[in-house]
Amino acid sequence: MKNSVLYSESLCKRFKSNKIPHAAIIETSNLKNSQQGLNKMLQLLMCKLGKEEPCGNCEACVKISLGSHPDVKLIGLEEKSQSIKVESIRWMRQDAHILPSEQEYKFYVISPADALTPQAQNAFIKILEEPPRNVIFILICESLISLLDTVVSRCEIFRDHFGQNDNKDREAYVVAKKLSFASFNEDKLKILEIISKLPLERSYIKNVIDHLQKVFLEVIKEGGQSASSLVKKIDKLAYISDGLEVNTNINLALSNLMVVL
Ligand SMILES: [Zn+2]
Repeated sequence: MKNSVLYSESLCKRFKSNKIPHAAIIETSNLKNSQQGLNKMLQLLMCKLGKEEPCGNCEACVKISLGSHPDVKLIGLEEKSQSIKVESIRWMRQDAHILPSEQEYKFYVISPADALTPQAQNAFIKILEEPPRNVIFILICESLISLLDTVVSRCEIFRDHFGQNDNKDREAYVVAKKLSFASFNEDKLKILEIISKLPLERSYIKNVIDHLQKVFLEVIKEGGQSASSLVKKIDKLAYISDGLEVNTNINLALSNLMVVL
């Protein structure tokens, strides 16, 4: 199972050798399939029977695969929301002071950590500064770029990456993701900040815009946001992208992008 996504071997080894970081960030290029790999990793850490591999049958293994282990708490996107809000982190901060019920450690898995609002991240820093014993935070994200330096600097970083993916394309995708989060949060300042940092390179910007259309399309499929307004946005993005292919002025394209978002 070495290829299992997110089965971050180095992190596992650290746990097994009792050199346990109280907070870890796993940066992965395959967030969508990360749950399976994560379960496997947690099973490896908690299974009392298996050595190299989790047994898959003991109480801990079964509960983890059912998503019902009391010492594993998942903090993710709420329904109809594209962000993880400060309330969830406040809840976690309180809950973290309750001792684990079946294991030595209690795990809080925050995924996708890219979706943490800045306010939520600031709330998180408070507990990262003085983490309760017996608590381990695992943040899973597509890119560290979305996290505040103050959070990143308090976590150990593990990369579960990319292999064949073209780095430039990957970067364009990450920028598109950030833009979409900012757009869903109606954070015009953030959008402006991201757009103003884009390199004025026609193919790159076109790539970002094309990824953005795909991201919006996925959100529609998941039913997270009002579909009709997203469809309109996708249309407009396609128009800007086509323009870039011909000869639209890049700055004009960027200001149109700003308007759409
Ligand atoms: Zn087991």
